[in-house]
Amino acid sequence: MSADVSGLDEIYRKIWIDGELLDGPDALIHISAFALHYAKSVFEGIRFYETQRKELAIFRLEEHTKRFFSSAHIINLKMRYAPDEINKAIIETVVGNELKSGYIRPIAFAGPGPLGIVSKDNPTITAILVWFWGAYLGAEGMEKGIRLKTSSIPKDNASMFLKSKCSANYVMANFAKEEAISAGYDDALHLDKNGLVAEASVANVFIVKDGEVITPPLSAPILPGITRDTIIVLARDRGYKATERDFTRDELYCADECFITGTAAEVTPVVEVDDRKIGTGCVGPATKLLQKLYLDIVHGRISRYRHWLTFIE
Ligand code: PMP
Repeated sequence: MSADVSGLDEIYRKIWIDGELLDGPDALIHISAFALHYAKSVFEGIRFYETQRKELAIFRLEEHTKRFFSSAHIINLKMRYAPDEINKAIIETVVGNELKSGYIRPIAFAGPGPLGIVSKDNPTITAILVWFWGAYLGAEGMEKGIRLKTSSIPKDNASMFLKSKCSANYVMANFAKEEAISAGYDDALHLDKNGLVAEASVANVFIVKDGEVITPPLSAPILPGITRDTIIVLARDRGYKATERDFTRDELYCADECFITGTAAEVTPVVEVDDRKIGTGCVGPATKLLQKLYLDIVHGRISRYRHWLTFIE
């Protein structure tokens, strides 16, 4: 093989592919895979954590699997397995990798075969990877907050299927993230084509103003984040008014607090956007509270939200 993949089997120890749990190096795919060329592929990102009682728990598995199937439906990718079979396979892969916490990546894509622009003769391949992934924006980012820069890439509902977690969208996420990093920031902030705030490269955006928690609505060009939904529920449970509405970049600059949410990013405070301090420039009280609540819940420390956890024996 031309690329050096030595060392990858330490990261991806067992990979589930079409019904079999294989050793990492054995999970190979032919280079004619349609998705590699034309991005006809959908994926999920899910986390599992070790709980207080030392069991492993997957956070909101049902909702992630549901979105996996909606993503495929949107791009017209035929799924080969039923949701229950995917859930079972996810659990099998988590167990097989023997990690205490980590990230789960189910992916389904149009596989090897002809490379015309029609995929009807390319069978769907389904695979599941699991790996250890610490704080997405670093432990310091989680504690002290990160800096965002507005991306040169607007998000557009008209020309992209943004409710699908399809691989094609991630060319732009990658572009935006690298653009922000090379300019010295931690992540990108996308606006829509009218200049309204959309989302970060792979996370949803929230602001807090005068005790109200605000995030762009689902009609905005954003992915319907499962962490976003979780935070709306938690904010309301804690007595905040939580509102889904559009806001501009000016309103974001003048917010009291800002944070981003995602399975990878969890709840990451944002303390600066485009070189403007947000609020005091330090992590705000609502962000701190919601972040702590989120981390307590995913680690099974709060019984009220245990229905969001799938425990693995
Ligand atoms: N937006 C985009 C573009 C994403 O890739 C993600 C990560 N899945 C999110 C938002 C956050 O979604 P979730 O909370 O479901 O991980």
